[in-house]
Amino acid sequence: MSAQTPHRTLQAGHGPMLRALARGGWKERGTCRQTDPELWFADTSQRTKARAASICASCPVRRPCLAWALVFDEEYGVWGGLDATERHTLKRRLTTGETLLAVLADVLGWPIAAPSNPEAA
Ligand code: SF4
Repeated sequence: MSAQTPHRTLQAGHGPMLRALARGGWKERGTCRQTDPELWFADTSQRTKARAASICASCPVRRPCLAWALVFDEEYGVWGGLDATERHTLKRRLTTGETLLAVLADVLGWPIAAPSNPEAA
């Protein structure tokens, strides 16, 4: 059996969330917009990644940011506080049937219920 991409897996039950993520308004509120982008996208050391992740930890849009990276298969950089290797593990969980909301709740420690505004943190 071939593996599904997370994006394909999520199409069926996550339409409103996908549309909200794709609109991208959450990106305007990211803490990284006020910081050196090299922290998130350069081929950096573990120390630099850790610095980016620590900034992400208090970002008001961490949840949609991580959701975006998982759904749209962002291959590079730190998104939602996780680097590509960490996200790869989560993407594998999505392809085996776990829901995006369950994975986000597990990683970020937030309730599993769908937010009324998917762009909200
Ligand atoms: S969670 Fe991190 S990468 Fe995402 S928007 Fe916030 S600061 Fe930027």
